[in-house]
Amino acid sequence: MKHRLISACIGALAASTQALSAATDARFADFPAYDGADLELCVDGRGTHFTLWSPEAQAAQVLLYSSGRNSTPEDTLQMNRAEQGTWRASVPRQLYGKYYTFRIRHNGNWLDETPGVWAKAVGTNGKRAAIIDLATTDPEGWADDRGPALKSITDAVIYEMHHRDMSMHPSSGIVNKGKFLALTEAGTTTAEGERTGIDHLKELGVTHVHILPSYDYNSVDEANLAANNYNWGYDPQNYNTPEGSYSTNPADPAARIREMKQMIQALHDAGIGVVMDVVYNHTAENDGSNFSLTAPGYYYRHRADNSYSDASGCGNETASERAQMSDYIVRSVCYWAREFHIDGFRFDLMAIHDTDTMNRVAAALKEINPSIFVYGEGWTAGDSPLPAAQRALKENVSKMQGIAVFSDDIRDAVKGHYSDASDRGFATGKPGNEETVKIGIVGSTAHPQVDYAKGNNSKFAYATSPTQIINYVSCHDDLMLTDKLAASMPGSTAEERMRAARLAQTIVFTSQGTPFVWCGEEIFRDKKGVHNSYKSPDSINAIDWSLKHANRSQFDYYRELIALRKAHPAFRMTDAADVARNIVFDKTTRPNLISYSIKNHANGDEWNEIKLVFNGSDEPAEVKVPRGEWKVIAADGRIAADGMGTSRGGRLTVAPVSALILAR
Ligand code: CA
Repeated sequence: MKHRLISACIGALAASTQALSAATDARFADFPAYDGADLELCVDGRGTHFTLWSPEAQAAQVLLYSSGRNSTPEDTLQMNRAEQGTWRASVPRQLYGKYYTFRIRHNGNWLDETPGVWAKAVGTNGKRAAIIDLATTDPEGWADDRGPALKSITDAVIYEMHHRDMSMHPSSGIVNKGKFLALTEAGTTTAEGERTGIDHLKELGVTHVHILPSYDYNSVDEANLAANNYNWGYDPQNYNTPEGSYSTNPADPAARIREMKQMIQALHDAGIGVVMDVVYNHTAENDGSNFSLTAPGYYYRHRADNSYSDASGCGNETASERAQMSDYIVRSVCYWAREFHIDGFRFDLMAIHDTDTMNRVAAALKEINPSIFVYGEGWTAGDSPLPAAQRALKENVSKMQGIAVFSDDIRDAVKGHYSDASDRGFATGKPGNEETVKIGIVGSTAHPQVDYAKGNNSKFAYATSPTQIINYVSCHDDLMLTDKLAASMPGSTAEERMRAARLAQTIVFTSQGTPFVWCGEEIFRDKKGVHNSYKSPDSINAIDWSLKHANRSQFDYYRELIALRKAHPAFRMTDAADVARNIVFDKTTRPNLISYSIKNHANGDEWNEIKLVFNGSDEPAEVKVPRGEWKVIAADGRIAADGMGTSRGGRLTVAPVSALILAR
């Protein structure tokens, strides 16, 4: 997510009445943090216990309800001031089935009710927290559920998806359209008999799905699902419970939890891990957010003029440099990892957070499960009061050994700049991107043959290991590859664009780092040219699965490309010194031509040498390859992981807009 203006946020900004000055911000550093595990709700043999962190409150209450909305409180509990900025109240009974909110008095006024910042279950639209026994949300066999074991993030193949994109179209054959349960349905097909849903993911061979925000977000009215509204979900409301519109019954607080676990379990059973997109960098609302209603001002950064600072472009930015906020992020991801068995986290606008917090996140998650990995957007969407040296920027990734960042270098160099629809890149014939593509090939690590001074976006080798780099040419943001090719190749045929897509993805999937692909690209679906489809209808966003049959050969290419990567550790090196030693670029003089070898049985590969030549021009290119017995893996827009014939090397012609891959 970047530059995504959410109108509700902006309205709240204008109406801001509680904004605190930057001078006030300094005071927050002295607030006592509370690190107890019982924050907000704890049910045990002695009863139900509420603990709210609100250091400046003058009074605090718990309001108890019998339903998730539209009712008056059954009871109101006065909370007592306790240690480390907390307030406490207890009831000597287990209140399962009840709902609650908190309310604090601040500067003489009672603020609006809030479910708090730690609600793990909520009623419809997340306005009240629900008291449930989480054990009742576990599907059968959950205790034995495990995600895929991973030695390195570079062994992952990540497929970014939105729940509605995957299942809403009638051609999906899926019953639970737009729901978590969609990916629990086995055996779904199109009218032509092509696999869809989870069977499609297995057939494609990806190792992880990356699900767009799936915590409870603000924009879709859960009480009116018939309206069928679509949203990406970058408008966080309750960080620690799933979004209600993806459940079959948002009014049942357990349903969204149980059904999301069922989805994760089904994916794990298929050998596929689940990465969650997390958006701790801002909240949907300002003064009305759960953060503001429990500890006004504390969780956000402010400008000197009392307004909320806005590095997110959505009206506010959170303050991870403060102890309770930093702890909050660490605890929240750990909760998802433990309770939901999440296998990875993608941090939206990660550079709004400080590097220390991100390092704490990575370390805490590795303790829970060494296979968990973390990556994020190494940029902000606006300026921040947080000094650049402390930001979790792409340029600072060397300070974050357990974190990866998206490479906008390879993204823009291969297909053209994201902000200019008509701009072309290496794979579509625009010269001048060769060195930046090489930066992508070596995973942004230092390499003796790569001149970072010629890089388009980065001027130095910012990664200390290819494990710190996510390679991609499109994602949910901006024009997806299909639309980008249509916009930048006027007058082209679909076959020409598909050919360019194959070359672009071949560069991504053979580069050092971790490859990432946006859902539906593999069957060449598009989003009708909409670059910011965050609230576009399903008619724009939903994948038309009938394209899988129509574009079967394109799908097969992607499938073979993924199989090639997974079969060969040479593409998945983890050490920058190995990359510098094993990757050798050939001298080429013509534009839009890159030729290189991966040598020395790199990373334990069975192949001694892999030769890769990328020709992004619309003319054939001649290259000299050492004579010998080569297996042909890819040529002229076709690919086969196990090879398709042999070559004796020498002078070879590389067809226009294609990759030549040989191995010996
Ligand atoms: Ca919601």
